[in-house]
Amino acid sequence: MSPPLLQVKSLQKFFTMKRGFPNPETVTVRAVDGVTFDVQKGEAFGLVGESGCGKSTVGRGLLRLIEPDCGDVLLDGQDVLALNKARLQAVRRRMQIIFQDPYASLNPRRTVGQTLAEPMVVHEMGSRTEIHERVRSLLNEVGLQPEAVDKFPHEFSGGQRQRVGIARALIFQPDLVIADEPVSALDVSIQSQILLLMRGLQEKRRLSFIFISHDLAVVRYFCQRLAVMYLGRIVEQGTVTELFENPLHPYTVLLREASPIPDPQVRRDVPRIEAEVPSPINPPPGCYFHPRCPKAMDLCRRQYPPWRRLDASRGVACHLNG
Ligand code: SF4
Repeated sequence: MSPPLLQVKSLQKFFTMKRGFPNPETVTVRAVDGVTFDVQKGEAFGLVGESGCGKSTVGRGLLRLIEPDCGDVLLDGQDVLALNKARLQAVRRRMQIIFQDPYASLNPRRTVGQTLAEPMVVHEMGSRTEIHERVRSLLNEVGLQPEAVDKFPHEFSGGQRQRVGIARALIFQPDLVIADEPVSALDVSIQSQILLLMRGLQEKRRLSFIFISHDLAVVRYFCQRLAVMYLGRIVEQGTVTELFENPLHPYTVLLREASPIPDPQVRRDVPRIEAEVPSPINPPPGCYFHPRCPKAMDLCRRQYPPWRRLDASRGVACHLNG
């Protein structure tokens, strides 16, 4: 197997904040706590988990939109976290991001043509005519009409705006796109169109994706491998087939069972994931999942389970698999 395009090792990001009134105390949020994974060239790798599990912080940390505290991020062996500002700009061309809310990430006072042309003008990527042509070609590639070039973001539907967001991510012909909940703000019928578009781009351009989502059904469709995150840590990792057909971590089991099956003939009692997600400010002792885990044992309340690597792609952190 060729070396991974991206290697992430022991990535960590803690935030400190003030909490309480009238005597605020400083608290630490352990948003990302030792996350390790890699992404192959042309692969779609999923990061899944409930809201607040740290998956979006991982995505932003890889691009240094949020500066990680420590860890390694290697793109083709190049240490992204050690780069100065100028060299980081060059690497960011190779790693782009698609945001959940395309409307918030587009300038409402700029036409789509201006939004797409600006980075090319700044980086002197051709004459005005060549850039104009390139904008039209990008719009065509994401399924938008040429007339879209003169429209403002508010004149598009949510799905069309996300197509613009995808076009913007493609400007520099990246190797890796971080898609942060790219379809969760869209209607279900539109979701599938955007996923089809992204899959087509993945195959045509041999693009790698990190697909961040709370929705296991979407990840199942789009990704080849995935990591399940809980309170800032990866608790299970493997191929999509492995995690759906033979999940080892009780949290993965519950997420899978809570995910709808796209077949009206198949009925399944949907179990509830009991109790609230504990706070990343003050995670419980032992396994962070133990207050919600139907299989918790005494050991789980005392000791965080070590990461057990099962093969090249598979691993789990659970005492049941120790
Ligand atoms: Fe459940 Fe224990 Fe495994 Fe944690 S370590 S997931 S509490 S069985």
